[in-house]
Amino acid sequence: MVPNPLIIGDFQIYWLNGGNFRLDGGTMFGAVPKVLWEKKCKADAKNLLPFTNDVLLVKTPTHNIIVDTGLGNKLTEKQLSIFKVTSPWSIVSDLADLGLSRQDIDFVLLTHCDFDHAGGIVMHDAEGNEELTFPAAVHYVQKTEWEDVEQPCHRAQSTYWPENFNLLKKEGRLKIIDGELEVIHGVRLRHTGGHTRGHQLVEFTSKNETAVHLGDLFPTHAHANPLWVMAYDNFPLEVIDRKEEYFRHYSAMNSWFTFYHDPLIKACKLDWQNKIIDTWPSV
Ligand SMILES: [Zn+2]
Repeated sequence: MVPNPLIIGDFQIYWLNGGNFRLDGGTMFGAVPKVLWEKKCKADAKNLLPFTNDVLLVKTPTHNIIVDTGLGNKLTEKQLSIFKVTSPWSIVSDLADLGLSRQDIDFVLLTHCDFDHAGGIVMHDAEGNEELTFPAAVHYVQKTEWEDVEQPCHRAQSTYWPENFNLLKKEGRLKIIDGELEVIHGVRLRHTGGHTRGHQLVEFTSKNETAVHLGDLFPTHAHANPLWVMAYDNFPLEVIDRKEEYFRHYSAMNSWFTFYHDPLIKACKLDWQNKIIDTWPSV
């Protein structure tokens, strides 16, 4: 069952199950001491914490949009065990619950190309053949991100997997952008950098209401302090600068901040001191 959507003007935002996993607490909170982060998230005996990979489905009056694609269904048994996957990716059945098929998606907006965000671009069909999960969708990626997909540095090779991208170019469903773009009225992409070189945010505006998806710059509500950044961030100082900038900008607009990795809270609002003043669902 897909929970109720968050309403932003004429837009509806749903969170679909892109597969859940467990990660080491230290990797998610970087240099933050455990005595501090453990007040917000309790680790198990192996220092692991539960995280989601929540794919956003945004329904506008004219289009269906997916933001990031989750872990996908191509992981081997060994990979499922290595990445401690606790619930499998179920985007196709989640869409069916909402009366939608894979062909109904018009746009896939990729914040960046790490495997936990890009794993569902290409899926296995019942026979194990690879196909685009959203065959009719145009997939948007920033130019610098795509350069790193095509020529990953040593560190990026472990997370930019060719099998997640090969079909995009071949089937002509890739759109590379550089900087900022309004995809359709009220849906805007903006390059951020920070987590990866070509990371981007997605902004949704309808009838004077706004939601912003900061991707891995703001992965869970526990990262509301701009200084709390992940060990996975490639450019942590840039993440801090961008968070301060976007928190100021979007909280002044009373915007929702939506999450990808948060198992409890799917969106929040912040005040000018970055204190959480509202959550979705409300807690
Ligand atoms: Zn991530």
